[in-house]
Amino acid sequence: MAAGSPDVDTLPWLNPQRVARLQDALQARILVIDGAMGTMIQQHGLDEGDYRGERFVDGFDAAYLPEAGHVHGASCGCSHDQRGNNDLLSLTRPEIIRDIHAQYLDAGADLVETNTFNSTTISLADYGLSHLARELNEAGARLAREACDAAEARDPARPRFVIGVLGPTSRTASLSPDVNRPGFRAITFDALREAYREATDGLIDGGADLLMVETVFDTLNAKAALFAIEEAFDARGSRLPVMVSGTITDASGRTLSGQTAEAFWYSLRHARPLSIGLNCALGAKDLRVHVDVLAQIADAYVSTHPNAGLPNAFGGYDETPEDMAAVLGEFARAGLLNLVGGCCGTSPAHINAIARAVGEYPPRALPALEAA
Ligand SMILES: [Zn+2]
Ligand SMILES: [Zn+2]
Repeated sequence: MAAGSPDVDTLPWLNPQRVARLQDALQARILVIDGAMGTMIQQHGLDEGDYRGERFVDGFDAAYLPEAGHVHGASCGCSHDQRGNNDLLSLTRPEIIRDIHAQYLDAGADLVETNTFNSTTISLADYGLSHLARELNEAGARLAREACDAAEARDPARPRFVIGVLGPTSRTASLSPDVNRPGFRAITFDALREAYREATDGLIDGGADLLMVETVFDTLNAKAALFAIEEAFDARGSRLPVMVSGTITDASGRTLSGQTAEAFWYSLRHARPLSIGLNCALGAKDLRVHVDVLAQIADAYVSTHPNAGLPNAFGGYDETPEDMAAVLGEFARAGLLNLVGGCCGTSPAHINAIARAVGEYPPRALPALEAA
C-alpha cells in the first residue's frame, strides 16, 4: 500500500462485512457503476410544482426560517425557482429517485451513486436551501440504500453498493473566476471543508457503503473533501472506502486546475483511496490515454464513468449504448479497468451494454498492491 495518513488507516471499517464483499467482488470482476441521474429525471417532464412538492410549495422551505424574527411572506426574498434542483427530488419525489436506482440495478449495476451531486451548502445556496445539505445527503443515501437492499434481497449472491457522491461544487479554490483579479478566490479551503464535512456525515448516516469525490476539476477542492472525510471518520472512529474521480476539462488532457492525470494521482495518493479514476469529460474515446496512465501508475483500483460522448449543439449526448460499450469493452480487454459506468447522457441501456461488454474480461491487476 502507499504510505499515507496513519490515523485514518488504522481506523476499523464502519461495516467490515460490506467492505469484505466489495473487495471480493473487485478481485473477481470488473464492477459496474450506474449511469446518469439527470437524463432519467428529464424523462419525467417535471415542472416547478413537481420539484416543490408540499413542503417547498412557495419556493422556500416552509419548515425553516433563515433568521430569528423572519416572517415568510409574498416578498420576503426566500422564494427561488426549484425546477432543475434535482437533488431536492430526494425529498419531494423520492419514488422517482428510488425507481431510477432500481432501473440501473436491473440493468446490471453493482454500485449506484446517490442523488447528491449538488447537495452541499455551497451549491444549494443557488436555490436558497443551504440548510438542507445534511438532510438531502442522508435522504439521498437512504433511497439508494433501499434500492440496493431490495436488489440484494432478490439475489443475495450479488452484493450491491451505495456510493455516496460528493460533487465538486460550483466554486474553485485554486483559481480566480475573475481574469482581472488573479489572486481572488470565490471560496476558501476551510469553507469547502466545512461543507463537505456536513455532506459526508449525511451520506454516512443514510447508509452509504463508500464515498466518492467526483468530477474533480480542481485538486484543491478534492483535498478539502478528503480532509473533511478524514475528519468525519476520525470523529466516528471508523471509516468507509473512498473513491476519487477527476475530470478532464480541455483537449490538452488537463483538469481545470491544470494537472495531467498523473499529477492528479500523485497529489491525492496520500489519502489512499480505494480507487482513482476519471469521469464526465470528453467521452470514453478521448479519456482512454488518461485512464491508461492511471492504470499504469496507480496502486489503487481504476475507475471510469464517461459521458455518452461530447455534448451536441442541443446539450444532448449522441453516443449510443453500442458505441460506448464498444469503446469501454476495449478498455477492459486492454486490462485498464476495475470499475466502469456512465456519466452525463447515459441510461440503463448504456449501462446494460457496458456491463455485457466488460463482463468477459478480468479486472485490471493492481501493481504491487496488497488487498486492503
Ligand atoms: Zn422568507
Ligand atoms: Zn458527466
